[in-house]
Amino acid sequence: MTPQYFQVAVNAPLSGALTYTATQNVQSLLSRGISVQVPLGKRMVSGVILDTTNEAGAFELKDIETINEELPLLHEAYLQWVEWMAKYYMHPIGQILASTFPPLKKKGRSQEPLNSVIPEVIPSKDLSLTQEQDICLQQLLHVEQFQPFLLHGVTGSGKTEVYMQLLKKTLARGKSALILVPEISLTPQLIQRFASRFKDQIAVIHSHLTPREKTQQWWSVIDGEKKILIGARSALFCPIKNLGVIIVDEEHEPSFKQEEKLKYHARDASIVLAKTHNCPIVLGSATPSLESWQNAKAGKYQLLQMKNRVNDRKMPDVEIIDLKSKKDHDEMPNSVDLPFWLSKPLYLALQSNLENKWQSALFLNRRGTAQMALCTSCGSTFECPNCSISLTLHGQSHLVCHYCDYSEKLPEKCHHCESGDIEKIGLGTELVENDIFRLFPHAKIARADRDEIGGRKDLEELIENMESGNIDILIGTQMIAKGLDFPKLTLVGLVLADVGFNLPDFRATERSFQLLTQVSGRAGRHVDDGGKVFIQTFNPEHPSIVYSKDLQYELFADMELRERQELLYPPFGRLALFRLIGNSNDSVEELATKTALRADHLKKSYTQYEPVQVLGPCPAPIVKIRNNYRHQLLLKCPEPSLLQSFCYQLLGDTKWLPAGTKVQPDIDPVSML
Ligand code: ADP
Ligand code: ZN
Ligand code: ZN
Repeated sequence: MTPQYFQVAVNAPLSGALTYTATQNVQSLLSRGISVQVPLGKRMVSGVILDTTNEAGAFELKDIETINEELPLLHEAYLQWVEWMAKYYMHPIGQILASTFPPLKKKGRSQEPLNSVIPEVIPSKDLSLTQEQDICLQQLLHVEQFQPFLLHGVTGSGKTEVYMQLLKKTLARGKSALILVPEISLTPQLIQRFASRFKDQIAVIHSHLTPREKTQQWWSVIDGEKKILIGARSALFCPIKNLGVIIVDEEHEPSFKQEEKLKYHARDASIVLAKTHNCPIVLGSATPSLESWQNAKAGKYQLLQMKNRVNDRKMPDVEIIDLKSKKDHDEMPNSVDLPFWLSKPLYLALQSNLENKWQSALFLNRRGTAQMALCTSCGSTFECPNCSISLTLHGQSHLVCHYCDYSEKLPEKCHHCESGDIEKIGLGTELVENDIFRLFPHAKIARADRDEIGGRKDLEELIENMESGNIDILIGTQMIAKGLDFPKLTLVGLVLADVGFNLPDFRATERSFQLLTQVSGRAGRHVDDGGKVFIQTFNPEHPSIVYSKDLQYELFADMELRERQELLYPPFGRLALFRLIGNSNDSVEELATKTALRADHLKKSYTQYEPVQVLGPCPAPIVKIRNNYRHQLLLKCPEPSLLQSFCYQLLGDTKWLPAGTKVQPDIDPVSML
C-alpha cells in the first residue's frame, strides 16, 4: 500500500518533523530522503521527508505539493548522521537539512570553467615512506569498517604523505574520501599538495567560496565526478556517498567547533559520520586534544605514532627566555635600544638570520598597538558601548572592539576627568611591527593578523611573498602558526607566551601548549639542524612552557588529564553550557532565576539526576556582547545520555522563557566566554 502520511523536516525552527499528506501525482514518488516543497502557515518552505506512515495525525493535514526534483535523494548514512546531529546538539533538524544543499541552482553551473578553486599543479608521485610512516600506513590499510585512529605525529613527521597514500588505496577500492582541515590551513599550498597527487579527483569546500563555486564543487562530489572532498568543517554537510575514509587533520583545533547556530564540533561529528558510513576515520595531530588522547589510552581509538621528522631532520632547538630577568643581562652594544618585549638573544638571532638571508617569524596572539588605553589621572579605561570589554588601540589613535568591531577615535582628553594623561598599555602585533621596523630598517617586514589579512586572497599573497623571499621577518598572530610550511623559515620567536594563561577556561593550559608546539613546528622544517625557536615569557615555570620545551606531549597530557579527572572536566565529565541571553539586564536576571529553579526542581524530582552537577547560573565572563546581556548555567555529568535527557527536560517547551530572552544550549562547549 502506498503510504499516505509523510514526516517532513521543514526549514523552520521546529524541533521535530511535521506530518503532511500528498497530492495524488506525487504521492507514489515519495520516500525517505526526498526533498519537497510544503506549505507552512502562509509560506511555502523546503523540507526533507524523514518517514512515511499510514497513521493519520489528529489534525487536518496539508499536502506536499512538489518534489524538488533537482536535489538528490539523501542517502541513509547521511540522514542518520543528521538525525544524530539534531538530537545531540539540540538543533532543529529541518534547518540542518536545509544547510545541506548548495546556494544556487544546478543548471548552468558548468558554462564556464572555474579554475580558481583548484590551482594548476605539476603532478607528483608517492614518496617512499619512512619506517614510521610505513608502519602507520600498514595499520590503516587493512581496516575497511568503522574504526577511529589517532595519528599522533610530531610537526614535520610526514602525516600528509600517509594520508595521501591511504587515499590512493581508498580510491582503488572504489570509495570516496572526506578530509577536514581547519579553515585557516586550507591554503593553496595544501590543496596543491593533494592536487599534485590526485589531480582531477579533488573538490574543495570552504566558507570563502562564492555561491557559484560552492554550487559547482558540491555537485561535482554529489555526481560522483570528484572522489576526494577537502574542506573546512562545513564540508561535513555535503552528503558525499560511499565514503571509504574520513581524515580530520589538526584534530585538536578549537576552530572545528562552530560557535553560531548549530554549535557542533566537526571532529566529534566526523566520528559519528564514519560510524553511519561504517568506514575508518583518522584524527591527526602533533598535539592531540585531551579528549582524543584519553580515547586512545582507553582503547576506543587505535593510536598510531610518528615521533621523528622525516629524513632524520631534527626538531627545532627551543630556548625559553625569562622576561623577568631580561633587564639584568641585556647590555646592548652600539646603543641599540631594545623595546621591553624583545630580549637580547632573540634580537641577535633575528639580526644574524637577516644577515644570512634566512627568514624569521614572530608570533603574538594579540592584535593592535596596545591592549588598552588608560587615563592615568582617574584610572578610567575606554570600554565598548555595546560590549563589556575594553577597546584595543590600533595605530596611534584608533580604538576598536574585538567582539563587535565598534570603533572610535582615541580622544585627546579623558571623558571622565578631562585630563590629557592617556597612557597606552600592553602589546600587540602592530607595536611589534613598528619596533622591528625601527630596529631593522632595511629588512622586508610583513604583518599577518586579522587587520592585515582580510580574506583568502591576502593570505595567498602573503604565502607567495614568503615563498619568493619577499619577506625577511614575518609578524603575526596565530593565524600564521597553523600548517604553513616555508623552506627558508629557520627562526621563530614567540613574543609573549603568557597571553592566554589566565583566561577563564579550563582548556587554557592545553591551548597554550598546543600553540607553543604549533609555533615551534613552523621552524626549520627543511634544514638539517631543525631551526631555532625562542619562547619569551614571564612565567617560565608554567606547565605548558616546561613541557613544550622538549616537546613532551605525553608527559604534558598525563599531567593535565590528572587535573581534569579531579575536577570532572572533559574528557572525564561531559559539559553542557546553557547560555541565557536577554535584551536587558532585568530580563536576563529573571531568566537566570527561572532556569535555576527548573534545574533545582529536576534534580529534586528525579533521583537519577543525582550525578548531574549544576553550576550557576552566573553572569558570563563577558556580560554584554553586542548589547545582549549574558548569563550562563554549566552542567557537568560523567554520563552523556543522562546529561542529554537533563538538558531536554531543562529546556522543555521554552514557553516558560520571559519576554525578550532566549536560551542557547551549547553541548560540549569549547569557548566558555
Ligand atoms: P606533518 O603534516 O606531519 O607536519 P608533512 O606531511 O607536512 O608533515 O611533511 C613534512 C615534509 O616532509 C614535507 O615537505 C613532505 O613533503 C616531506 N616528506 C614527507 N614524507 C616524506 C618521505 N617519506 N620522504 C621524503 N620527504 C617526505
Ligand atoms: Zn580620567
Ligand atoms: Zn563591542
